[in-house]
Amino acid sequence: MKEQIYMLVKIQGIEVQAKSIKSTLNDASRKLEVIDAELNEFERTIEEQKSIIDKLKKKYRDYESEIQINLDRGKKTQVKLRSVKTNREYQSLLKEIEEEKAKNSKIEDKMIECLDRMDETEKIIAMKKDEYLQLSGSIMSEKEIMKQESEQGRIKLAKLDKDREEISCMIDPELLKKYLTIKKQNQPGLAIVPVKDALCYGCNVNLPPQLYNELFLGNSLKFCPNCQRIIYLRES
Ligand SMILES: [Zn+2]
Repeated sequence: MKEQIYMLVKIQGIEVQAKSIKSTLNDASRKLEVIDAELNEFERTIEEQKSIIDKLKKKYRDYESEIQINLDRGKKTQVKLRSVKTNREYQSLLKEIEEEKAKNSKIEDKMIECLDRMDETEKIIAMKKDEYLQLSGSIMSEKEIMKQESEQGRIKLAKLDKDREEISCMIDPELLKKYLTIKKQNQPGLAIVPVKDALCYGCNVNLPPQLYNELFLGNSLKFCPNCQRIIYLRES
C-alpha cells in the first residue's frame, strides 16, 4: 500500500505541475493577443491619418482648379474691358475683376490652411510611426522570448503527460478511480494529503488517535474523517 500511495502522490504532483504550466501557457497566449491588438491599434491610427492626408490633398487640388477657373474668367473680363463702350459697363467689369480677386484670395487662405493641416498630420504620422517602431522592436523580442518559453512549456507538458501515463499503469485501477473521484470532489484542491503530528494537511483538523496510529502501519487505505481525502503519513 505504501508504494501505491507513493505513486498516487507522484501522480498528484505531476497533475499540479501540468496545471500550472497550462495556466502559464494560457496567460502567455492571452498576453500575445493583447500585444497584437496594441500593434494593430497603431497601424489603424496611422492608416486613419494617411487617409486624412489624402482627403486634404484632394481638397487642395480642388482649390487649385477653382483658382484656375477664376483666373481664366478674370482674363476674359480683362479682354472685355478693352472693348467696353460706356463708363457704366467699364465700372461694372472692374467690380467683377475685384470680386474675382477677392474670391481667389479667400481660396488661397483656405489652401494655406490645408497645407498647415497636412503638415500637422504628417507630423502625427511620423510620431506614431516612431512609437510603433520602438514598440514593435521591444515587443518582437518579448514575443520571441514568450514563444520560446511556451515551446519549452509544451515540451515539459508532454513529458509530464507521459510520466503520468506510465505511473498510472502501475497503480491499482480501483485506487486510481477512487483518487480521481475524490479529486473531482475537491476541485481545484488536492485529493491525497499528508498527515503530520496527527494533523490533516487537507483540512487542518486533527485525526482521532486510533486512526493516526493505524496510519503508521501503512497497510490499508485511510481517509480523513473530516475532509474525506486520502491521507498518508509524512515521514520527516
Ligand atoms: Zn482532512
